[in-house]
Amino acid sequence: MLKIAIQKSGRLNEDSIKLLKECGIELNNGNKQLKAVAYNFPVEVYFFRDDDIPQYVYDGVADIGIVGENVLLETGKDIELAYRLGFGKCRLSIAVPKAMEYNSIKDLNGLKIATTYSNLLKQYLTANKVKADIHEISGSVEIAPGIGLADAICDLVSSGSTLFTNGLKEVEVILKSEAVITANKNLSEEKKAILKKLLMRMNAVKTAKNNKYILLNAPNYQLENIFSLLPGMKSPTVVPLVEEGWSSVQSVVNENDFWEVIEKLKQYEAEGIIVMPIEKMIIG
Ligand code: ATP
Ligand code: ZN
Repeated sequence: MLKIAIQKSGRLNEDSIKLLKECGIELNNGNKQLKAVAYNFPVEVYFFRDDDIPQYVYDGVADIGIVGENVLLETGKDIELAYRLGFGKCRLSIAVPKAMEYNSIKDLNGLKIATTYSNLLKQYLTANKVKADIHEISGSVEIAPGIGLADAICDLVSSGSTLFTNGLKEVEVILKSEAVITANKNLSEEKKAILKKLLMRMNAVKTAKNNKYILLNAPNYQLENIFSLLPGMKSPTVVPLVEEGWSSVQSVVNENDFWEVIEKLKQYEAEGIIVMPIEKMIIG
């Protein structure tokens, strides 16, 4: 049995539960209680505050956890970063009042900076030889400059709209973060085997999201060009069409270069292009 800690409520809760579900793990109740048991996979899910997860994984209360990399690094616990999940993306940044003139990091010297991430901020300032006063507070960091509690802040940012509404501008990015799987370093062989299976499933879900299935028709003399654009998982599938000199091609295309590939396919005379989402994708 592998014990998984996830956030009880907050930004990572829903995506964490969704991910487990996409991995085929059915839980016996919602997140109303402390613990849920999966009836079709040897895992138990515990619901905690995100800040407590690294400690619990370190202590072995949980074997693995789903937590923001920002929280993992801030606590500095000696636990493993086992897998990057690709959701919960944000950055830990320093922001100053919009009106403040800011040219370089040296301008932070002598300022009072409010944050809940004092360890990461301290490391960053030290590495950049800045001497500032770190003021640790427990929440609502973004209002600190407005109420005269600090000159600047160091906080999580995603769209930047919270900074904007509080009259702040982002001036330094300390860390780019996403949700990760963190694991205790001393798992038993049995737990390691379950984790390996789980990570294989998570990878299939993540890879599928990054790829699309593509079907198209093309004249045979363009096939080599088209194969160079669509290498596929091993190689593309080609089926001859009834119409002489034409083939149907099936392959996968990566989400990142999707539109570029489509435009080039058109240049290579591809027709009837159909693109479909992939539910799971297992490579190798
Ligand atoms: P808890 O009650 O569990 O302590 P919290 O209020 O500390 O919750 P949330 O605001 O729910 O935490 O954020 C959880 C994680 O979501 C963050 O640690 C971070 O990794 C990620 N995240 C993604 N985007 C943002 C954002 N714009 N602001 C804050 N966190 C974000
Ligand atoms: Zn928290």
